[in-house]
Amino acid sequence: MAEIFDHDLFVIGGGSGGVRAARIAAAEYGANVALAEQYRMGGTCVIRGCVPKKLMVFASGYGAAMEDARSYGWDVAAGGFDWPAFRARLDAELDRLEAVYRAGLSGAGVTVHDCRAVVEDAHSVRLATGEVLRAKHILIATGGHPFVPDLAAGVEVLTSNDIFKLDSLPESVLIVGGGFIACEFACILNGLGVKVTQYYRGEQILRGFDGEARGHIAEAMRANGVNLHVGTDVLEMQRAGGATLVRSTDGREAVFEKVVYATGRVPNTGGLGLESAGVTMGRRGEVVVDEWSQTGVPSIYAVGDVTDRINLTPVAIREGHAFADTVFGARPTRADHQLVASAVFTQPELGTVGLSEEDAAAERPIEVYETSFRPMQSAFAGRPDRVMMKLIVCARSRKVIGCHIVAPGAGEMIQLAAIAIKMGATKEDFDRTVAVHPTLAEELVTLRKPVRSA
Ligand code: NDP
Repeated sequence: MAEIFDHDLFVIGGGSGGVRAARIAAAEYGANVALAEQYRMGGTCVIRGCVPKKLMVFASGYGAAMEDARSYGWDVAAGGFDWPAFRARLDAELDRLEAVYRAGLSGAGVTVHDCRAVVEDAHSVRLATGEVLRAKHILIATGGHPFVPDLAAGVEVLTSNDIFKLDSLPESVLIVGGGFIACEFACILNGLGVKVTQYYRGEQILRGFDGEARGHIAEAMRANGVNLHVGTDVLEMQRAGGATLVRSTDGREAVFEKVVYATGRVPNTGGLGLESAGVTMGRRGEVVVDEWSQTGVPSIYAVGDVTDRINLTPVAIREGHAFADTVFGARPTRADHQLVASAVFTQPELGTVGLSEEDAAAERPIEVYETSFRPMQSAFAGRPDRVMMKLIVCARSRKVIGCHIVAPGAGEMIQLAAIAIKMGATKEDFDRTVAVHPTLAEELVTLRKPVRSA
């Protein structure tokens, strides 16, 4: 006799991946779906990640924009930045977005539980209320959380989660780390008038991205006022008055009002009951899944950051959608993890898709086309900013296999370049595309000669 379940699908986690999977399974395929979220609906991206971060990026740009405006003839001067006023608007916007997420779920007929849920066995979840529900399928979409090394234990340090909730902006801050979050917040806080120091333990920030792009951004960050030290880590910290005294590996001692650790994120799998249900976890605590996002327990799937594949919102959404198509839509679909474009919202931004020059050169013969120049808008305002655009071309197939842009609006540009590159565009396809003039992006189709081959 067929077993009777309370739900076809129980989703644990109301972030980008979980919500997409729940909505598609319920609304498009008529599944009976429940979802549990222990914090706020929308997850990291909406509540304490991409969305509030991007709004802070916008906020942080207005100071420099007002200075530029004077060069363009406007009689304006930036007054002070009113953090409480901005935060109130930010909070209201996040409330609005959370409500949109909730409405989307309830419109799709998903039953929402505002509490923690853990896995009990291959088909059961236990809610914090004590209720146990049986589901034919369980989807783990619990995301991740900031990792803070032991060194920082006992000293009050902040993570990206806390920045959005500050009552006031500090006068000075030390940011530890050299990845996406560290670099983005260094630029944001610098733009908002905070004195920013950044320590990164490695040779150059943004490890994994194209080498020249990394160097270009580091230079621009320094020129914009970020006190960036590479090859430097925290040795010890102690509270000093209301601030933190930091001794670093290069022998310096400095006092900062706040210290922010942006040293990576780890999957949220602790105490979820996964081991006892037989789900395999990797070295970083990530749920191990196959290309269908299925774990070794056939009824349990996982999507998004909890699987530690490519930790980006749009990837989690694709994985959630592919899961719903596969399991409930009878349309077997694998999420495609090839040529995923991304942007780092530093100032200037980095937009990137495909291989870095270093990785590409290690694989095959390549040609590198690139340009660096002062963009019209900021050059007119007397700023020394430079942009960089670079195409990595496979010498054999002529396909563009990497594109790296450091420029204002690079995130917008790379989205469009990524379509062509995903379609397999060759360098000659770029060349026969007529430029849109005068724009920054036109340089991508006017790169005539390789600067080097490797
Ligand atoms: P990242 O993995 O990008 O960077 C972590 C940084 O912390 C690295 O510079 C790393 O150094 C350093 N680090 C790690 N451990 C230590 C330690 N014990 N002591 C000192 N430094 C340490 O993580 P983030 O937290 O910045 O971001 C997490 C993920 O979130 C990203 O990978 C990305 O997928 C996503 N994200 C995406 C954004 C976007 O799309 N714009 C924005 C923000 C986040 P090392 O290089 O030496 O390992």
